[in-house]
Amino acid sequence: MDAQHITKKERMAIPRQEMPAQNPDVRNKNFREVNLGYTAELAQEEALRCIQCKDAPCIKGCPGQHQD
Ligand code: SF4
Repeated sequence: MDAQHITKKERMAIPRQEMPAQNPDVRNKNFREVNLGYTAELAQEEALRCIQCKDAPCIKGCPGQHQD
């Protein structure tokens, strides 16, 4: 999908990407993180869902953006 030419409506139609996770039969035998993280491809697909909010609440809530 061409990220530059995608409409807001098309972005909102993209389903949420499920985070890969350890299989329950595997994770019940270890103490590692259950979520395995997005692959680069899944992260790009998930990022396509961004509708560029004017007030960008994601930036306000990001601990890496706090200046105080
Ligand atoms: S909150 Fe941030 S990441 Fe989410 S749609 Fe709005 S601008 Fe995009």
